[in-house]
Amino acid sequence: MSKILAINAGSSSLKWQLFEMPAEKVIAKGVAERIGQELGRIKVVANGRSDERKVVIPSHQEAVKMLLTSLTENKIITGFTEIVGVGHRVVAGGEIFHRSTLIDEKVIAQIESLAEYAPLHNPAEAAGIRAFMAALPGVPEVAVFDTSFHQTLPAVNYLYSIPYEYYKKFGARKYGAHGTSYRYVSQRTADLLQRPLTDLKMIVAHLGNGTSLDAIKDGKSFNTSMGFTPLAGVTMGTRSGDIDASLVAFLEEKMDLSTEQMIHILNTKSGLLGLSGVSSDMRDLLAHEGTDPQAKVTVEIFVDRIVQYIGSYVAQLSGLDVLVFTAGIGENESLIRSRICQALGYLGVKIDEAVNKTTRGTEQIISTPNSKVKVLVVPTNEELMIARDVVEYGEITSK
Ligand code: AMP
Repeated sequence: MSKILAINAGSSSLKWQLFEMPAEKVIAKGVAERIGQELGRIKVVANGRSDERKVVIPSHQEAVKMLLTSLTENKIITGFTEIVGVGHRVVAGGEIFHRSTLIDEKVIAQIESLAEYAPLHNPAEAAGIRAFMAALPGVPEVAVFDTSFHQTLPAVNYLYSIPYEYYKKFGARKYGAHGTSYRYVSQRTADLLQRPLTDLKMIVAHLGNGTSLDAIKDGKSFNTSMGFTPLAGVTMGTRSGDIDASLVAFLEEKMDLSTEQMIHILNTKSGLLGLSGVSSDMRDLLAHEGTDPQAKVTVEIFVDRIVQYIGSYVAQLSGLDVLVFTAGIGENESLIRSRICQALGYLGVKIDEAVNKTTRGTEQIISTPNSKVKVLVVPTNEELMIARDVVEYGEITSK
């Protein structure tokens, strides 16, 4: 048995899970939050117990040291040599990384060079990688990119209709996101249906705070709703999704804002939050939609944009075999699933409302036997996918 850490480092946080592989069992998980701020928080969950402490966490290096120390202190491991591999989520892999990659100095430099595609994420992720290299020298580390699954997109789907030289010179194209989730969910769906993934025309709806859709053909990502950054696509918790680019310049002028300020608004104050004025959280909106007309229209827009994307992907795929719901809303909100599927009735989508209603965070086929499209709920598991990639690309053999 081998112990593998899956790391998700943000600009001020570091989330982790410790897996026993190949059993794929989560032994412990936790988070270090508010790194670099006045007072941080460290949380470790293991053996049914949760240990939480408020401490100053000056840097990612310190967060990594504290995480490793907490593993021995809580007797989750007896020594660091038990950890045989570390996997890191990396947001932007550009056109360099088509798959997960064993990390060396060159790979770290490449991740850093891609910082302009994900300024909040890639530098923090590189810092996390360096911190583990220092703390666990010689232990294989693997980078798992959010974008790599979408490197199979055909040019017809990744190019924007802008001067082609901008793509050639600056890499201005669609990269997509949530790729690790799509890779896990699409394969798991094929396994559950006992069909080869390559035989299925599939759409996966990753409906969370960040929401996107992916059209999968021949087992590969064929089109996806997020774009150059995760700001594009459908309405999200706080992100606008697609808007007319001219509106950005118009609003900047009206409110005397810089482009940076405007993009910040589109990322953090728009979407469900901006439209409703109530909350970015779907649970709150569903609780208010009966009494608050603005909450009602916000939920309608959320459903509508998803239905629009699914319709366009069905047209591109020339049909649909499977529709899969995943992430916070997709896994838990039967009402949203039901409304989307009702709108897709014209495709022969039929779900069993009773089964749908009782499905929360579990794997389940929710379509009726005579539905023309199989509809499933498949909880995503990006951390497990990262741990699997560490085994594969770190060439780890079980001890
Ligand atoms: P995620 O980003 O995947 O964590 O998803 C967050 C979204 O899922 C929020 O809009 C929540 O309202 C929604 N959601 C609904 N039910 C749940 C639940 N039981 N647990 C977590 N998120 C939920």
